[in-house]
Parts: sequence; structure tokens; C-alpha cells
Amino acid sequence: MTRSGKEYLESLRDGRVIWLDGERVGDITTHPAFRNSVRSISELYDLARERPELTADLAGTQIHKAHQIPRTKEELKAKGRAFKIWSEATFGFFGRSPDYMASAIAGFATVPDVFRREFDGSRNIVEHWRRMATNDLYQAHTLVNPQIDRTKPPSELEEDDLCLRVVQERADGIVVRGAKMIGTAAAFADEMLVGVTQRMAPSEADYAVSFSVPVATPGIQFVSRTSYEGRATSIFDYPLSSRFDENDALVTFDNVFVPWERVFTYRDPLACHEQFWQTPAFVSFVHHGAIRLWTKLEFLAGIAILIARANNTYDLPPVKMQIGKLMAWVNTAKAVAVAIEEGAEPVPGADAVAPNREMSCAQLAIGPDLYPKVLAEIKLLAGGGLIQLPASFRDFRNPEVARLLGKYVRSPGHDAESRTKLLKLAWDALGSEFAGRHDQYERFYHGSPHVYLPTLVREGDPETYAALARRCLDGYSLEDPI
Ligand SMILES: Cc1cc2nc3c(=O)[nH]c(=O)nc-3n(C[C@H](O)[C@H](O)[C@H](O)COP(=O)(O)OP(=O)(O)OC[C@H]3O[C@@H](n4cnc5c(N)ncnc54)[C@H](O)[C@@H]3O)c2cc1C
Repeated sequence: MTRSGKEYLESLRDGRVIWLDGERVGDITTHPAFRNSVRSISELYDLARERPELTADLAGTQIHKAHQIPRTKEELKAKGRAFKIWSEATFGFFGRSPDYMASAIAGFATVPDVFRREFDGSRNIVEHWRRMATNDLYQAHTLVNPQIDRTKPPSELEEDDLCLRVVQERADGIVVRGAKMIGTAAAFADEMLVGVTQRMAPSEADYAVSFSVPVATPGIQFVSRTSYEGRATSIFDYPLSSRFDENDALVTFDNVFVPWERVFTYRDPLACHEQFWQTPAFVSFVHHGAIRLWTKLEFLAGIAILIARANNTYDLPPVKMQIGKLMAWVNTAKAVAVAIEEGAEPVPGADAVAPNREMSCAQLAIGPDLYPKVLAEIKLLAGGGLIQLPASFRDFRNPEVARLLGKYVRSPGHDAESRTKLLKLAWDALGSEFAGRHDQYERFYHGSPHVYLPTLVREGDPETYAALARRCLDGYSLEDPI
């Protein structure tokens, strides 16, 4: 059986080191900056026990479908349906819910040969996948070196351990020191995959390592960004910030010991890169991301429809055009998610299928492009009502303010409370600090445009397009009559 929400919450009380606002956080299950969000995750675990579509059998053990290695297109689509159910439970706002990385680890384990090099991590990755799947563990990841000076390789920065690197090799494992960004949900997870996706020169071998360790491993510290949950005045005022704040943190490693059996690639820049691209790991990330984005855009379009109805503008032709545009964007996101599954590709050398590569690459470009457009369109549709809102739920408790709100804040079918409730939800999705973080997340969570856009050329078929244009050019010349 997969684990319960209660078991998940209990596992978080393990002494992990999280800093927030200059203070060490004790128990995140009770701390006001984290408790609602971890409870939302615990509800996902409970949901997995209630909905059979979310689980699969692995040699007699019930596992979450995200851990499954899909053998057929139907299994891949069933995995997609599981992603959809969990993403709907959080309205698409948990980018790094436990199923995100579970799917990528299954991707690694699909082609263990990629890890069989001078250092042989092939057994380690398969055992890691089995352990994560059968214990239903939550894996976070942190793969990017800190943004100190992007023109220099890690070894040329002013100190040689600003980016995480191997500082000692022992008979039983390695010792690492340095930092990584950004650990989303790492403070809420069981384990953290540490690696690097950027291409590095052989001279950077000390920085080219990937491994997984429990987040409470001695020497690991998280420096959390502002907690939107902690700043929320109430669920009524900030219904998303207060419950779905998945946290982001700088992750630092101070002489952290990693046993050999937890190392997947070692001092091998090429292997670090290939583990994502020569296995279905990266496209598995993208499959999850595509389905979650589709859900999130459905939710945002729903907000737009409710606002237009509340403002009584829904039937005005220009507003119908806006709603139509938003629905087309939802369907664009859905189309990419469907194409990723329908184009499932066999994995060479494995009894498995993977999400379609070319369509996954399209998702990398479409997501960051669509999301800000959707936000901007809904803001245009909503007008000043998003801003002209009472400061907090407390205004409704003061009879004089409640009287003023009751008289002047309303619209057909909406009294002051229901209109305020809707527009506060909309502001939390579109304009709050939480919303700003999501705008940035959707643009960057799969990397920077200068990195992912060229990938479309590499994984696509530019020659076919060039040939079509060439055929047109070759069909006429200077000598042709008008
Ligand atoms: C909210 C959020 C959550 C995230 N969560 C995670 C996570 O859980 N795990 C994880 O591993 N990562 C995570 N990331 C990190 C993410 O992977 C990185 O932000 C992303 O890879 C981009 O790298 P960067 O931020 O260092 O930007 P940079 O690579 O520094 O790029 C920023 C900008 O600088 C310019 N630029 C930089 N270098 C070049 C160049 N060589 N050529 C041209 N232009 C350049 C471009 O304009 C680029 O858009 C998250 C990011 C965000 C925003």
C-alpha cells in the first residue's frame, strides 16, 4: 500500500535544518510558515489510497503510478491520468508534487546502462528507484549551480567550493561541499537528488556528480525564501498562498558524506548530462509538467469565466473573445500533453515507452510563453476589482465597514462576501507575491530559454522544414514568365 498522509507528516519530524527569517524552523508540520502546505501534500498521499487510478502493482507491492516504468502507450496514458488527478487536487500549483521526480527517477531506472561507465552507478540507480517506489518516498532535486557568475565555469569562481563539488573520496563514499539552487519542495521531501544538467568541460570533473541523500543528512541546510503561507492573513484572503506554497530554498552542503551506493554518476561531466537525455528522465519531467500546466490553465480560465459573470460582462462580444482566446490556450496546453502521450516512443534497449521527445521539447517552449499571456489576459478582463478589495476578512467583522462593503461591493448574483472571495482568489492566482513566483516558475523551472530553445532544434527535424521551403524556391527562377 502507498503511504498515508499521516505517515508522511510523521516522517517530516527528522531534524532537517531549515532557516527562515533568520531563525531555525523546528517542526514544519506545525510551523505557521509551512503547516498548511505540508498538509496539502499529506492529502495527496491520502487521495492515492482512495483512488485506484493512482496506483499500480510492482512485483506484489502497490506503488504510486508515478514510480511506474510504462511498458505501453496505454500505461503512459494511465500515468498521465494519475498526474491529472493530483494536479487537479492542488489546481496545478504544486509543480514539484511527489509525482514529478518519481517519474524522472523511473526514467533513470529505465536505462541503467547509461550509468555504467568508468564509475558504475547502474545498480545504484535501479536500487534507488525500487526503494523510492516501494516506500513511496518524496524526491526533490537541485541541479543548478548558484547564479554567481554565469560567464565562468565553477572551478574559476573566486572560491572553488561555491558550486557543489567533491572534496574527498573515501573507501565508503564521497564528501561534498558547496551549494545548489533552487531546491523547490526540498524542505518537504524525504530525499534530494543532487546533480547538474549543464554541459561541463572535463576539467570540471569535481563538479560533475549526481547522487541522492535524505534531506536531514548532517551538513545539509536550507535557506528558505519568504513563506507566502506565513505572510497570508487567512485562507479567505490568500486561498492559494496559504495552502499551496511549495517552498523554494538555497541548499548548502557543508562536508556532506554520501555513501557510494547513493552515487549515480561520478566525476563524469558527460554522464551527468546524458543521464537526463539518454534516458526518459527529462521527458518524464516534461510529461508531468505538461499535464499540470493544462490543469493550471483550466483553473485560470475558470477564474476568468467567474469574474466575467460576476462583472456581468460575460455576454459582451469583446469579453467573449477574451474567454475564447483563453480557452484556446487551455486547449493548446492540452494538445501538447495529449501529443506527448500519443506519440509515445519505444526506449531503445528497454521494454518500455517514453513520452514523445519532439513534443516534450515543444512543451518547454509553449509553457513559458503561454503562462504570462494567460495572466495578462485575465488581468485585462478583471479590471480594478482585483485591487479594490478590503484588506482582510477582519473588515467583515466590523459592522460599519461590513455595511459599506455590503452596499458598494456587489454585482448581479454576488453579495459583498462572495464577490470579495472570488476576487481575492483571483488576485492570489494573478497578482500576489505567490502569483509572481508562479509566473517566474513557469518561465524557468525547466531551465533558461537560451538553454531549452536550441534543444528544439537538436531534437527536431529542421531539414524537413528547410527542404519544404527549398522545394518552393527550386520551383521557379529569373527566367519564369509572369
Ligand atoms: C521558482 C523556481 C523554482 C525552481 N525549482 C528548481 C528545482 O526544484 N530544482 C532545480 O534544480 N532547479 C530549480 N529551478 C532553477 C531553474 O532550473 C533555474 O532557474 C533555471 O535552470 C535557469 O537558471 P538560472 O536561474 O541560473 O538562470 P541563468 O542561467 O543565469 O539565466 C538567466 C538569464 O540570463 C541570461 N543568460 C545567462 N547565461 C546566458 C548565456 N550563456 N547565454 C545567453 N544568455 C544567458 C538569459 O537572459 C537568461 O534568461 C527553479 C527556478 C525557479 C524560478
